[in-house]
Amino acid sequence: MADWQTLSDRINNVAPSATLAVDSKAKAMKAAGVDVIGFGAGEPDFPTPAPVVEAAVEACREPRNYKYTPTAGLPELREAIAAKVLRDSGYAVTPDQVVVTNGGKQAVYEAFQILLDEGDEVIIPTPFWTSYPEAVKLAGGTPVEVFAGADRDFEPSIEAIEAARTPRTKAIIVTSPNNPTGAVWSRETIRAIGEWAVEHHVWILSDEIYEHLNYDGAKTAYVGVEAPECRDQLIVLNGVAKTYAMPGWRVGWLVAPAPVAKAAAKLQGHLSSNVSNVPQRAALAAVAGPLDEVHMMREAFDARRRAIVAALNDIPGVSCPTPTGAFYAFPDITGLLGRPVGPNGTVSATSAEFAAALLDEAHVAAVPGEAFGAPGYLRFSYALADDQLAEGMRRFKAYVEA
Ligand code: GLU
Repeated sequence: MADWQTLSDRINNVAPSATLAVDSKAKAMKAAGVDVIGFGAGEPDFPTPAPVVEAAVEACREPRNYKYTPTAGLPELREAIAAKVLRDSGYAVTPDQVVVTNGGKQAVYEAFQILLDEGDEVIIPTPFWTSYPEAVKLAGGTPVEVFAGADRDFEPSIEAIEAARTPRTKAIIVTSPNNPTGAVWSRETIRAIGEWAVEHHVWILSDEIYEHLNYDGAKTAYVGVEAPECRDQLIVLNGVAKTYAMPGWRVGWLVAPAPVAKAAAKLQGHLSSNVSNVPQRAALAAVAGPLDEVHMMREAFDARRRAIVAALNDIPGVSCPTPTGAFYAFPDITGLLGRPVGPNGTVSATSAEFAAALLDEAHVAAVPGEAFGAPGYLRFSYALADDQLAEGMRRFKAYVEA
């Protein structure tokens, strides 16, 4: 580009999505004939349930779906989402508190756009999902990381959160079950964050997209339940991607106090208008339907979880705590850094370099911890077929032991 063709500081200061970058590199290698095992993006390998697909097929034939519909979402879907909150979290919200978004990611983006002014700070428990800090920066805010490592089961302490608070603290993010660690935070921690936020007038964004994926008796604690007094300052983020195996349909939502939801709809009116009607009709069939499929998926993920944790811990230099939620394993691989590894004796100084070498040399795709504010770790999504998982782990071990 010519010298004058500069882009905004706003976009130049944002990092690309590392999860999507790893996923697209792995998919491009596959398309080029390389046999890659992809532990990259968190994308369930199960098909979308048949009744949901049927609802979409039917919706394609209905001319009413060819028109613009309300920006905040189809009224029936907003009602179904409100009913879902009551069913799953046990408290009542009204449809006017719901805004249907283009995937959960747009709900995150909109939440920060409507809450933050230049220089407002958002406390982000770290490791974090890779898009949070970038969405904060795009809204002019400043991400403030509060790290909790494997020694704390990746669960932030309220003391560390309080130590990070300043007069500019505007919001905090809660993600449990967690991406990338798979940790399910205790009820005590969730309650403490809710109470702390009420005391200090801080907005809470609770990303509940993995709510139904719990193992070993762990149970998702909802901040709106544990600290009901925070509901007037709570924005819940969710979507159909993980619960109903619908990542590509791009339907998410936020549930917020009505004036906040109204502001999000105002923004969306200039951004993307209504989410495509056919996926909204599919989402309606999913959200208003039973949870049988996610229970079946959870059983399959549970078996894979146990398999991948055992396999990772069997690799010299790798140490993986046992996650109790979502579908991610998040091992510490610092034992593999700074020394020759693999048939070519590649020396990686960082987990980012190691992830690149693992992909290039062993054809195993994982996302480096740097993408989540946690250098020294790798994230493995185990939402892939059992035989792929076993082969990927066999390759990783063989690579390390070569
Ligand atoms: N949430 C998933 C992940 O972390 C999907 C990819 C993305 O949008 O980041 O891999």
